[in-house]
Amino acid sequence: MNKFSTLNHQKFFPEQETLHKICDEKYLEVEEISRFIENYNTIDLLKIASSLRNKNNPKTITYSRKVFINLINLCKDSCSYCTYKKEPTDAGSVMLKPSQALSIAEAGKKLKCTEALIVTGERPELKYGEAKKWLHEMGHRTVSDFIADLGEKILQKTGLLPHTNAGSLTKKEMSMLKSTNVSLGMMLENSSEKLLQVGKAHEKAPSKNPKVRIKSLVSAGELKIPITTGLLIGIGENLVDVIRSILLIKELNGKYGHIQEVIIQNFSPKPGTTMENFNPPSDIYFLKCIAAARILLKNINIQVPPNLSPQTYSRYLDSGINDWGGISPLTPDYVNPEYPWPTIKDVRRVTGMKGFALRARLPIYPEFIKKPYNYNYFVADNLKKYIETLIDDTGLVKEEYIQ
Ligand code: SF4
Repeated sequence: MNKFSTLNHQKFFPEQETLHKICDEKYLEVEEISRFIENYNTIDLLKIASSLRNKNNPKTITYSRKVFINLINLCKDSCSYCTYKKEPTDAGSVMLKPSQALSIAEAGKKLKCTEALIVTGERPELKYGEAKKWLHEMGHRTVSDFIADLGEKILQKTGLLPHTNAGSLTKKEMSMLKSTNVSLGMMLENSSEKLLQVGKAHEKAPSKNPKVRIKSLVSAGELKIPITTGLLIGIGENLVDVIRSILLIKELNGKYGHIQEVIIQNFSPKPGTTMENFNPPSDIYFLKCIAAARILLKNINIQVPPNLSPQTYSRYLDSGINDWGGISPLTPDYVNPEYPWPTIKDVRRVTGMKGFALRARLPIYPEFIKKPYNYNYFVADNLKKYIETLIDDTGLVKEEYIQ
């Protein structure tokens, strides 16, 4: 029986031969895969993606109940779509003290959060004297030093599990975070270097050079750190670039097995940014990118954030995703403050209407916990007691913990 029996009733067209080759992981040029994704009927493509998701995850969609600790929002780079980055004199600039970060984690614990998402701009200490002074006052030289120390405090005082996204960290920096972070996050965004060209989204963001990002993803693999990465869709790339990026992530995961989740995020133009007048990605293009990720990445977790499509996010369940990412009952999405998260109750309702149960997961996915080889290979021993307190035998958060 063919793996894709949902197609067997259809007449056999040449494009289906391409589909079968993709699904059987036979070699195809990127352009051929892209042409197939572009030309294949969207509804059928989404059905294929959904059926692949259902084979692995038939009933459950997950999210991570988190607090967002916006540690420092100064950044040495300037992406053309970003409103997160602030200047030191801006009213919204933030440089938290450890006690402030801990208070957020403690408040999250009261609301049964299990993830402490720690976010910073890219290496602010390289550009801003204010950031250097902030670190110096706390006895640290780099943001990574500070996060390693803070992560330990958060674990000990609250049991929330740190997951840091501080941009493109070096191998040394990542190794400092391994014993306090159950996983790390860093968006690839896209593997196309054309986005670094003058007038493009990453012209003023050298850390978004794909070579830099790939190096960080490789370092995480070599260090055996589960990592969340992802693509930002609609920032000047095309479908070929998206497919090439997905295949790159697949190749890295094939080598290291450490990609725990791939976020497919829709670009949303924001007032006051260089890209404020850019169009967001079309619905069909975005849905096809999600489906392509599921079809090419098979059982890797695929997330689309619900808050960036507040009225229509339920349709991503029809495109093959299995996760909604971090949702906070306490803190805003500081990266996209224009788009508040829906309530967990609403996400549960929407997910239920499509026939799925919503379950809370940790910032490390069950397959890194429940498979003994992965657990020993990827998870630092000192983190295991914190993880095991929170999970049931599926590796998801105990239902009774969050009730
Ligand atoms: S998206 Fe990240 S790297 Fe780019 S400017 Fe914003 S904070 Fe800096």
